[in-house]
Amino acid sequence: MVVDPTLELLRYRVLATMASMESLDSENLTPLADIPLGKLRVDATRLHAVCRYHKGVQKSDPSLGPNDVRKVAVHPVALAPEWERYAEFLLFHEFLHALGHAGHDRIFRKLEADWPDYEATQMGETFGTHLRERNAKWRWLCPQCGWNTARSVKSRGRYLCRGCRVKLVDESLELTISTS
Ligand SMILES: [Zn+2]
Ligand SMILES: [Zn+2]
Repeated sequence: MVVDPTLELLRYRVLATMASMESLDSENLTPLADIPLGKLRVDATRLHAVCRYHKGVQKSDPSLGPNDVRKVAVHPVALAPEWERYAEFLLFHEFLHALGHAGHDRIFRKLEADWPDYEATQMGETFGTHLRERNAKWRWLCPQCGWNTARSVKSRGRYLCRGCRVKLVDESLELTISTS
């Protein structure tokens, strides 16, 4: 398997932080060092990271743990320097799943909330918007007030600006995309 240095550095930082968290004192973090790490497809917009278990693994199995994990994958865009704090939180979140906390129950949410970088725990929405903007091919623009929003499809004259009640116009973003 090809080892990605960016992902390995991310793992290193996340495990160092997890080792310092009192709430994880009873967990054995060592096996997390061997879980294969990967990346989601770059055009994924709904999923930011995922913990995939081996085939046939029951998430309800009380002995669920790191050995049942096939792979943890993170969105490649989150690996850019400006999102690295969010990437750390994402990997931490998936590592909690890998430790055997399969669902987002109260225990999971409590452990998750202990992540010391509070701001990073709140970046999901901004990152989601960023992904949609990245994939957008059109900007819907109000010619009157300049309000605009990036979308993957054209508005084709079907939408009005909320403020001005003027038809939004489509502006191609293809040029911006090919140069970025
Ligand atoms: Zn989750
Ligand atoms: Zn307007």
